[in-house]
Amino acid sequence: MNIILLGPPGAGKGTQAKRLIDKYGIPQISTGDMLRAALKEGTPLGLEAKKYMDKGALVPDTVVIGLVKERIQQKDCAKGYMLDGFPRNVSQAESLDKMLTELGQKIDYVVCIEVPNDELVGRLTGRRTCRSCGGGYHVMFDPPKKEGVCDKCGGELYQRDDDNETTVKSRLEVYSNQTEPLIDYYEKQGKLHRINGVGDMGTIFDRITAVLG
Ligand code: AMP
Repeated sequence: MNIILLGPPGAGKGTQAKRLIDKYGIPQISTGDMLRAALKEGTPLGLEAKKYMDKGALVPDTVVIGLVKERIQQKDCAKGYMLDGFPRNVSQAESLDKMLTELGQKIDYVVCIEVPNDELVGRLTGRRTCRSCGGGYHVMFDPPKKEGVCDKCGGELYQRDDDNETTVKSRLEVYSNQTEPLIDYYEKQGKLHRINGVGDMGTIFDRITAVLG
């Protein structure tokens, strides 16, 4: 089963993906996570990507398409995968369709998690992540027991560089200008499923699994 998780930054794609991979036994492929890992390792690709990520802009298509093409051909993707944060514009979606046709694959479901814009800024700027285990928190909605410390592993919590208010606003603009057209693109393919992304994590998970079966 090949799935695309669509939705604005802060809609909860990453959070839901982490739960869904357990249920369906397929890996999450997050281009954002892959780019951040490349940056952490200090690879030329990571350093190049940083210039765009810091501004909240999209990294050039060729870079992310190359990453995804390589990743989906790895062994653990044989039974399917969940794309999170890719495709991000129509050109990436067209490249993906072409790539999948060549590989004899297709996308089965596109799940679009919808959250009103005014809720997203607060969700993103309050987000914190554990440096050690990657666990996610929110300073208001899901705070750790001790400020700045992960409940699960005691690791240090940090704020993503691009979760500051200025960059968040650019990322939301990029979403509405470049990514939102994908809703229409996949609706025309008959693959789009809209999910109300407001509510607690468990309720939203149930709404998604009702679609995926
Ligand atoms: P995310 O973790 O999905 O919010 O992505 C963080 C940042 O990584 C984005 O603001 C972009 O700069 C970059 N990025 C992630 N995925 C893509 C993609 N598919 N195409 C272009 N840039 C991306």
